[in-house]
Amino acid sequence: MTSTSRDHPRSHELPPPRAQQVAERVYAYIQPDGGWWINNTGIVLGEHTVLCIDSCATERRTRAFLEVVDGLQRQPGEEGQHRRARMLVNTHQHGDHTNGNCLLPDATIIGHRRCREAIQALGILRPDGLWEHVEWGDLEPAPPFVTFEHRLDVYVDDLLVELHHFGTAAHTTNDVVAWIPEHRVLFTGDLVFNGGTPFVLMGSVAGSLLALDCLMELDPAVIVPGHGEVCGPEVVDAAGEYLRFLQEIAAEAKRSGLTPLEAARRADLGPFAALTHPERLAGNLRRAFAECEGARPGDPIDVATAIAEMVAFNGGRPLTCQA
Ligand SMILES: [Zn+2]
Repeated sequence: MTSTSRDHPRSHELPPPRAQQVAERVYAYIQPDGGWWINNTGIVLGEHTVLCIDSCATERRTRAFLEVVDGLQRQPGEEGQHRRARMLVNTHQHGDHTNGNCLLPDATIIGHRRCREAIQALGILRPDGLWEHVEWGDLEPAPPFVTFEHRLDVYVDDLLVELHHFGTAAHTTNDVVAWIPEHRVLFTGDLVFNGGTPFVLMGSVAGSLLALDCLMELDPAVIVPGHGEVCGPEVVDAAGEYLRFLQEIAAEAKRSGLTPLEAARRADLGPFAALTHPERLAGNLRRAFAECEGARPGDPIDVATAIAEMVAFNGGRPLTCQA
């Protein structure tokens, strides 16, 4: 497969990333347009400590993010401060959230145990054949070296940030959310895409539904999704509707003897057609089919075939990526 610049508008055609304050000393770093490989990150700024939530897909994007972190630390009233200890938490293994970890060599990198294992096994994610126009930059794997299973509390000065893994595969096997109870701010990683199609190929449909219930139990007021604009809990409900839609399509298609790709092509996306990257339906249905056949959440699946099916669903065109 070849790709041209016409297939892939360059990232300078997108609005620039920006830091958006969501609570006192808490910022979402929003990267438009939130498409493939264009993630959000977060910043929690204390007097003595700064916590970054995720890095970015490429060297250039991560350096731009770190410039914003430095800029916040140089704001009026911040002058003369001693250098802050840096922590970086990864919300999951995917390269758009972890490829840039190596650019924070002084940071304590935190994540789920299986996030560490995945990065150790897979290295820098730089998919061949799909997104060759992307300038990934000089990157090397830097997995989390403080890991946990279910919950870890970190403090940015006196501000508690709870890191939770909900005990199930969902978007991946190692999803972690960062919850700031004092401000009711929740960084969800890719458990939530605002405006984008949910993507559960490497995790679980049923597990994602469980994880969304756990998100709602926290009772967040502000949600910083893994991709897309800052939002409220209504976006969690919308994601749940899409996941139940997947389960219905898969169950019906299994009865009719369709393949995941055939089922995707015949499906009426209805309101979900307005979400970006509708081609994820083909990958999501491969996971939903596997669950119909008894696969457990996060069981290994043929990702390469699923990606080829998403390209086929997309009319053979490469998946848009402006990272
Ligand atoms: Zn992801």
